[in-house]
Amino acid sequence: MNNETCIHGGISPVSLLESLHHSQGGSGRHRCPTCAFEEGFIVGSSGKWKSYDDYSLSIIDPEKCPQGSIAPSIVLKNLGENQGGAGRHKCTNCAFKQGFEVAILENNIDNIQLVLVKAPSVKITKKKRRFSPSKNIDFIEKELKNKHLGLLGELLVLHTEKKYLCDNNRPDLAEKVEHTSVVRGDGAGYDILSFNLKDEEKYIEVKTTRSNISRPFYLTSNEIEYSKLNNDNYFLYRLFDFDTNLNVGKYYKVQGDLYTKLNLEPILYLATPK
Ligand SMILES: [Zn+2]
Ligand SMILES: [Zn+2]
Repeated sequence: MNNETCIHGGISPVSLLESLHHSQGGSGRHRCPTCAFEEGFIVGSSGKWKSYDDYSLSIIDPEKCPQGSIAPSIVLKNLGENQGGAGRHKCTNCAFKQGFEVAILENNIDNIQLVLVKAPSVKITKKKRRFSPSKNIDFIEKELKNKHLGLLGELLVLHTEKKYLCDNNRPDLAEKVEHTSVVRGDGAGYDILSFNLKDEEKYIEVKTTRSNISRPFYLTSNEIEYSKLNNDNYFLYRLFDFDTNLNVGKYYKVQGDLYTKLNLEPILYLATPK
């Protein structure tokens, strides 16, 4: 697993630690986000609260980080010191919240309603390029901050795939379903390795937002190239209207070469001087 064990023996996914924003303030300053993740997970697993929103209202000593994640001051103060690894100087409030939400999802995963809908067809009209760099950057930042929502979406798809295989008398295949982005890290070109009932591999990329069906989403060139090379076995699952409080969400599927199946606009290049 691509997890990190902190010096206190706590375990959390590296990709989550990396996605946390820096924070040098509050009671969680220089404390261990891995332990914060675990603390959040333990509280969330208790089953006392239906959602993080519910829980955060009940905290008697709430402390808020700049991104609005609330955690109990007493918990933050009691975390061990941590000055190393991917979680160095990262926000413990956000780590706590993420642990909490992963636990809530795992507790409720059988009750979450994921409804499959038809993929919309969007006609793009060629318009003159408008330069609005700040707008684009805001958009990218928001998506990146949403990494933990992405993990929740992946966990949900993982569960749905396993359940489908078990319901169709293939527990052997369900056993082999892999959370690739966690086990092998980002960059594989897909998030989940699953199977169809003919024993063929399925590569699933999951894109999750809380917003509606028409919201554009980001893909890496890796993901698009992988879809081209594995045309027949590649699936994009687009989760939207995802509400972790109500346990509902919708999704549509796009199968095959994403170069031909999607409208794509390049907005980031990796550059070096020559
Ligand atoms: Zn720790
Ligand atoms: Zn934070």
